[in-house]
Amino acid sequence: MELTVDMAINWMEIARDKYKENKETLTMLDQAIGDGDHGINMARGYQAVVEKIAETEYDHPADVLKSVAMTLMAKVGGASGPLYGTAFMNMSMVMKGKTVDQKVLKEAIDHAITGMKQRGKSEIGEKTLLDVWDQVSSYLDSEDLSEPKEIIEVCQAVVEDTKQIQATKGRASYLNERSIGHEDPGSMSSFYLFEALAEVLEK
Ligand code: ADP
Ligand code: MG
Ligand code: MG
Repeated sequence: MELTVDMAINWMEIARDKYKENKETLTMLDQAIGDGDHGINMARGYQAVVEKIAETEYDHPADVLKSVAMTLMAKVGGASGPLYGTAFMNMSMVMKGKTVDQKVLKEAIDHAITGMKQRGKSEIGEKTLLDVWDQVSSYLDSEDLSEPKEIIEVCQAVVEDTKQIQATKGRASYLNERSIGHEDPGSMSSFYLFEALAEVLEK
């Protein structure tokens, strides 16, 4: 595989569509263990992302992702805006000047994780979106991406698993053990993001 400029743009368009379609799901998940704004945050943020990248010319996918990062940081508030902004900025830094093959994509995702850990002062296993990113990284390390849609199953399982975890970061942590039994909204939004990526890679 090679992630091209057109694929990076298409990734964001599909993600925007998913966030629009599933806004209510994200809202409901965040109402249960947060403040209920995650659906609106993501839908609004990715609408702005698609508008921004439609009006710009790009030579390299790293530049697309840099625009995504800056737009998410500017337009999405709360915890998730800075976190996703950092993720895309770090992915862009790794991809810069390179052919984005599976190895580079994996390195980019790893650098995104490093950045989000720093920003969120969080670790894997704390019932956050990091849990999904971590499993995508492992998947890219162990599989050859001949069936990109497997990524969707991997992410789905992680979202399901976040139900069992007690949140120790973000608003959900205020609920202590009452956060158990609910899926993490940020993990669900990362699921949609990687579902969109899998669909682009499948094409
Ligand atoms: P807010 O909680 O500020 O309203 P959002 O609702 O947009 O922000 O996003 C909430 C999601 O962000 C959570 O479901 C979780 O996945 C993620 N999150 C929150 N705090 C952290 C953190 N410190 N580290 C990593 N992820 C976090
Ligand atoms: Mg929220
Ligand atoms: Mg909020």
